[in-house]
Amino acid sequence: MNGPAVTGPFALGAALAGREQADLLRRRIATQGSVAGRLQVAGRDYLNFSANDYLGLADHSAIKAAFKAGIDRYGTGSGASPLVTGYSRAHQQLEETLADWLGVEAVLLFNCGFSANQAVLKALLGKEHLLWQDKLNHASLQEMGSQLPCKMKRFGHNDMAALERLLEPNRGLIVSEGVFSMDGDQAPWRELATLAAQSGNWLMIDDAHGLGVLGPEGRGTLAAQGVQPASVHIQMGTFGKALGVAGAFVGGSRELVDYLVNFARHYVYSTHMPAAQACAVSKSIELVRAADESRAHLGQLIASFRQGAKGLGWQLGASDTPIQPLLVGESSAALQLAEQLRDRGVWVSAIRPPTVPVGTARLRITLSAAHREQDVDRLLDALGPCSGSANLEGTHHG
Ligand SMILES: *Cc1c(COP(=O)(O)O)cnc(C)c1O
Repeated sequence: MNGPAVTGPFALGAALAGREQADLLRRRIATQGSVAGRLQVAGRDYLNFSANDYLGLADHSAIKAAFKAGIDRYGTGSGASPLVTGYSRAHQQLEETLADWLGVEAVLLFNCGFSANQAVLKALLGKEHLLWQDKLNHASLQEMGSQLPCKMKRFGHNDMAALERLLEPNRGLIVSEGVFSMDGDQAPWRELATLAAQSGNWLMIDDAHGLGVLGPEGRGTLAAQGVQPASVHIQMGTFGKALGVAGAFVGGSRELVDYLVNFARHYVYSTHMPAAQACAVSKSIELVRAADESRAHLGQLIASFRQGAKGLGWQLGASDTPIQPLLVGESSAALQLAEQLRDRGVWVSAIRPPTVPVGTARLRITLSAAHREQDVDRLLDALGPCSGSANLEGTHHG
């Protein structure tokens, strides 16, 4: 046998070597601080166009103060799962704040969005059910969907005609995202709500990237598109992106939340998030609701970036959100470009398969209200004109 030696039941070395050969090996980089649109690595300062801190709240003094006051009152850990003694008044108040902000009856908190998504799908879908998912949905949704006994049908990205053909009446759950994490475009929620209502199926939104950024008071994609919260049965969002903290929630009817409290295993058998973290998120929501100025500034930066990048010949995605992918094509070319930008003091991540479809490696540029116009100018200078060698065959950007 050729290739790396295999010892034991798991061919770890061979898997890693395969990734390396395809320019797909991942390595982590330990930052030495990353606040307000900037980042320090190995003693050097960079402009950070890779974070999801869209409103620049991850280093906000009022949120830090709320976190610290929460620690003084509740300690650092919640000490138990929520059904034991891990659920506090701070958690309850955050649930009430979220319900009021988003127009849902009730809310449940999770330690992260990945587990919130998995918990919901696992708790709801039995083998008699169907699950319809946009094929660009987040890994947490795709993965749980493929492991469940229910039948999963994936529809082409934002292809409502395809979804309509796949739907069967009263059989299950349709899941899509508010803003797609690697593309920055939005799903058509009015059409999704209509299809769900007509077919008698439930509808779930993962609004990890829309919450705080879009709509009046930052209420997210549904509010931005004028869709009534009541027409979407399950709303999921995260606290680690625009809200600048960590954690996640699921919102919907009181009955849904009561059901999840009883049947969502990721909720029942996991230590609850620290109460102090809930205090920090509550403060963050207060700031987010009043952050129209930050959202307007962010909108300006997005417009400046798109105009500048277009002028330099880059192919932009169909995105009017802070997520602005530049399609490159091959993984090696995306890595090279990211390296070129780092040499010039600008930190942007190359996103490669399997996170995105093969042949659609990209730079995922994210803008933040913490950036200034001159930061965007520096990004555009560092990018320079597109060399035109990109291979964009087969991408859905057309
Ligand atoms: C980030 C993200 C998640 C996971 O949320 P975490 O709180 O980071 O675990 C889920 N869905 C989407 C679309 C995301 O972008």
